[in-house]
Amino acid sequence: PETQPFNEFTPPFPITETPPAILAWNENPYGFSPKAVEAMQTSIAAGNRYGWMQLNELKKKIAKKEGVGADQIMMGPGSTDLLERTAMFFFKEGGEANVITANPAYMSVVDVAQALHADWKAIKLTKDYDHDLKAMEKAIDEHTKLVYIANPNNPTGTVTNKKDLVDFCKRISKKVPVFVDEAYLEFSKNGLEDSMISLVKEGGYNVIVARTFSKIHGMAGLRCGYIVASKDLISKLNSYTIPGFGTSVPTITAVDASLYDEEHLEMCRTNIVRDREITESYLKKKKLNYLPSNTNFIIFEIPMDGKEMMSKLYEHGVMVRTFKFWDKNWCRVTIGKTAEMKIFYDAMDKIFV
Ligand code: PLP
Repeated sequence: PETQPFNEFTPPFPITETPPAILAWNENPYGFSPKAVEAMQTSIAAGNRYGWMQLNELKKKIAKKEGVGADQIMMGPGSTDLLERTAMFFFKEGGEANVITANPAYMSVVDVAQALHADWKAIKLTKDYDHDLKAMEKAIDEHTKLVYIANPNNPTGTVTNKKDLVDFCKRISKKVPVFVDEAYLEFSKNGLEDSMISLVKEGGYNVIVARTFSKIHGMAGLRCGYIVASKDLISKLNSYTIPGFGTSVPTITAVDASLYDEEHLEMCRTNIVRDREITESYLKKKKLNYLPSNTNFIIFEIPMDGKEMMSKLYEHGVMVRTFKFWDKNWCRVTIGKTAEMKIFYDAMDKIFV
């Protein structure tokens, strides 16, 4: 497969000097549910005790919501932790091994796999910036230990068609486990309808699905996520570490309060999708090529080096991320509150006159 280094730039300025519009890390600007704030405040004093009992109760509630058994869920402090633990599990034996993902992709699984000396088979997205499922399938060999798909993908914000992904997961998971990362699925056009948890529920497929409370639930800094898989796989993943130990009591109670707060989640989704559409229109007007987004961020091509773009926006009070892949420079902007997006448009107007 065609490979190319994937460059991601970090902010070229001290993070302590935070600008008014932080649109860099795909966080939810509306924060978490007021019910979660209240639950957290009242549970802080319970933080002298380990949260096993609360965690087990939360796990049962999540399992019920997802329609699976509690023994099919593994909790963690954010989904990154679970991506990393899964990669540790599959690549810990060393030897000749590889992981297959898109390029560009979210890199947690790849980073850990490579640290454990596995190869990264980086499969270029199609010309529409979709997962090239055929090429990913073709790349599987006897050393492939894991296939990772973020749907929607980061940093492109693109979504893969449900039917194609279901067929792919059903077929591929007979040969090798497929990890589907659904961090942004609630922001996509079909939302949770497209979740691959249905395959775990159906049973018989070696599919692992990651979900997080960082995005639609607005809890990026609280740290909580989970994976759903077969009972057998979850028990193997649990066998050599203490699952969920990194999640604090106040976080567990906040997640519990947010789980069914549909009103808050819908408010976040509606506002973010509205401002995403406005931002897409803005970029169109500016004749900047953007990828239609199914997430809470938009990536667009820029006619300058990523570091330069970050610095220029920063001068005007905006923090973003920039990337270089497939010989093009890109800027990724997270959808913030309307007022923050206004700061972004004003800054862009100064750069692209
Ligand atoms: N997966 C994807 C595709 C992401 O973009 C992110 C964060 O940006 C994560 C997972 C990690 O989220 P968290 O560790 O906060 O659950």
